[in-house]
Formats: sequence, C-alpha cells, structure tokens
Amino acid sequence: MTDVAQNLADVMAKIAAAARADGRSEADITLVAVSKPHGVERIVPAFEAGHRVFGENRVQEAIDKWPDLKDRYPDAHLHLIGPLQRNKARRAVELFDTIETLDRRKLATQLARVMDETGRRPDCLIQINTGEEDQKAGVLPADADAFIEACRKDLGLPVVGLMCIPPIDDEPSLHFALLREIARRHGLECLSMGMSADYETAIRFGATSVRVGTAIFGERPPYRGGA
Ligand SMILES: *Cc1c(COP(=O)(O)O)cnc(C)c1O
Repeated sequence: MTDVAQNLADVMAKIAAAARADGRSEADITLVAVSKPHGVERIVPAFEAGHRVFGENRVQEAIDKWPDLKDRYPDAHLHLIGPLQRNKARRAVELFDTIETLDRRKLATQLARVMDETGRRPDCLIQINTGEEDQKAGVLPADADAFIEACRKDLGLPVVGLMCIPPIDDEPSLHFALLREIARRHGLECLSMGMSADYETAIRFGATSVRVGTAIFGERPPYRGGA
C-alpha cells in the first residue's frame, strides 16, 4: 500500500536537506506533486497532509479530475507539465495556474490571445529541449534566447522561468546546468527541473521547482496506448 502522506514527508525532508546543502531553505523550493494518472483517492491524502501544488500532464485528464478538487480545496495550485495542443489552450488557461510547457510560437500566440479573452494569466515556463531529442517537446537551446524574448516582449506573456526533462540515459546535471545558464541570461528566476530520480541533484544545480510523482504516489499503472 502506498502511504502518500509518509512519502510526501520523506520527499519534503530530502528537499529541505538538499536546499540547505545549496545554501537555501526548503521555502525556496516548490514541490509539484505529479498526480497523473492517479485518482482522487490518492490525491486527497496529499491535500489532507497540507500539500497544495500538483502537476498533471494531460489537459483532458485534468478536466475530468480537478474541477471537483479545486472546489474542495480552493487554494490548490495546478501545473500543466505535459504537451499542450493549441486547441486546448483555452481550457488549459481556465484550469491551470502554471503552464510549464510553452514550447512553440503558434502556441505562444494562442495563449496570449486566450489570456486576453479570459483575463486569466497563469504563469508560464518555457520548456527547453536541452538534449535536442527529436521525440521530445521543447525549444532547442540555440533557439531559446529568441523565443524567450518573443514570448515576453512581443506577446507579453507572463514568463517566469524555464523547464526541462533531461534525456533518460544522460547525466542530468549537464542539462540542469544548461537550463540554469539560459535562465540566468534572461533574469528568469523559476527553474523547473528534477523528478523522482534526480530532484536532489536538480536542487544542487539551482532548481526552484521539482516535479515528483512516483516517489510520492507510487508506481504508475501504464497508460493505454503507451507514454
Ligand atoms: C511524469 C512526469 C514527472 C514525474 O516523474 P516521476 O519520475 O514519477 O517523479 C515529472 N515531469 C514530467 C514532465 C512528467 O511527465
């Protein structure tokens, strides 16, 4: 049986230790509890333990689960951490409080339009494909500077930071360092990097936000159709 409250406490303790080792405090790190594809029976214990920040990677799944949870816990803060299709931009802006996966010009334009129309302005992070992997979303490092400028200056999007998912077989610290360097050039403060396997390393490299699923909620049942 998965003891979500205990797992959460363990992860928080490790975050606090990693933050202190980096000369920071646990208050400097946001733990995004990645609740995909778990149901409310696993999520509610995390709320009851006092946790409020969660991540989901699919818009439709989040629409099915989260409106009820947000009614029940109005101070919940939900992050989108998976790819966003343009035709779902409006629903994403309506439901999510942070969108971590801004990664292309057409999506940026659509988000700017939907934010104007709805008056909602969720924080945005730009996803960088630090490993330059064909199958992975994200802006290539060489294109990052121009894209960040375009999102902020031309479109006025509320860009607060960067996000990356390092290649599965690579040493993650190289990718964390690259993300930090790009963010530094632009004065962006939020660095979303690190998952269950490497969040302590990510904090050592300056992460301000870590996305942890398995270490809190247990192994995920496989999605139908993969991924
Ligand atoms: C699923 C997912 C996570 C969480 O991964 P764990 O290894 O279960 O901690 C983090 N980030 C993204 C983008 C994800 O899709």
